[in-house]
Amino acid sequence: RVNLRIPGPTPCPDYVLEAMSRQMINHRGPEFREMIFRVTENLKKVFQTENDLLILTGSGTGAMEAALVNVLSPGDGVLSVSVGVFGDRFAQIAEVYGASVTRLSFTWGTAADPEVIRKAIEENPDIKAVLITHNETSTGVTNDMAAISKVVKEAGKLLLVDAISSLSSLPFYTDQWDCDVVISGSQKGYMVPPGLAFVSVSAMAWEAFKEAKMPRFYWDFGRAKTYLERGQNPWTPAVSVFYGLDVALEGMFREGLENIYQRHARIGQ
Ligand SMILES: *Cc1c(COP(=O)(O)O)cnc(C)c1O
Repeated sequence: RVNLRIPGPTPCPDYVLEAMSRQMINHRGPEFREMIFRVTENLKKVFQTENDLLILTGSGTGAMEAALVNVLSPGDGVLSVSVGVFGDRFAQIAEVYGASVTRLSFTWGTAADPEVIRKAIEENPDIKAVLITHNETSTGVTNDMAAISKVVKEAGKLLLVDAISSLSSLPFYTDQWDCDVVISGSQKGYMVPPGLAFVSVSAMAWEAFKEAKMPRFYWDFGRAKTYLERGQNPWTPAVSVFYGLDVALEGMFREGLENIYQRHARIGQ
């Protein structure tokens, strides 16, 4: 038996692997349409959101890039909060696309301090968006999203959250915490192979989308939403990973989200 203990890709249950060995279907046909609607609704339950939820073919990093290019323009002020490798990566992508990035780093192994974030926002009035990693996989530290979202939202800023390794393993409340874009990926807590990434998009993020000028084509949220209304992706999706995710989500609801969170907390201890 496998005993793979890395954060991702995680080992997959047999029923996920078996589902993925199925024959291809037309990704613009009725069977795919039913599947994408079902999977999207089930992911919304995991994200605890009523916002739009888009499924992108790519790894988590692709979805981080997508989050940035869909709500920002070159020159926009961004506060990038980092407690490790993945926080630094979020800042780096924003810099590559020409955002005006203020980096706020905390000692690795510690969590971000919401009061320091509040100060940084007050000192940089041009900030439009705050980037944060929920669970920093490189150090194992989880940031206090309830407290951080309170600070960011009191200041009226966009909140972009990398929850790639935490969503589905740790409690996450997209709507309660008023998160504008939340990112996750198939190969971490979902126990599905790599290949799909998920993003939730709030009404405030869609407002920002209308003005956002960063270049985008493959990652365009507008195209993804239009095609989702027809039960499709704009491009050819990772169909096999969809098969796996479909049954993985059913398995997760059989176990129960609360039980899953408790199991991870116990193993973490
Ligand atoms: C795994 C991970 C990423 C990168 O995801 P890829 O799928 O490897 O691109 C980013 N952020 C966090 C917190 C992660 O755990």
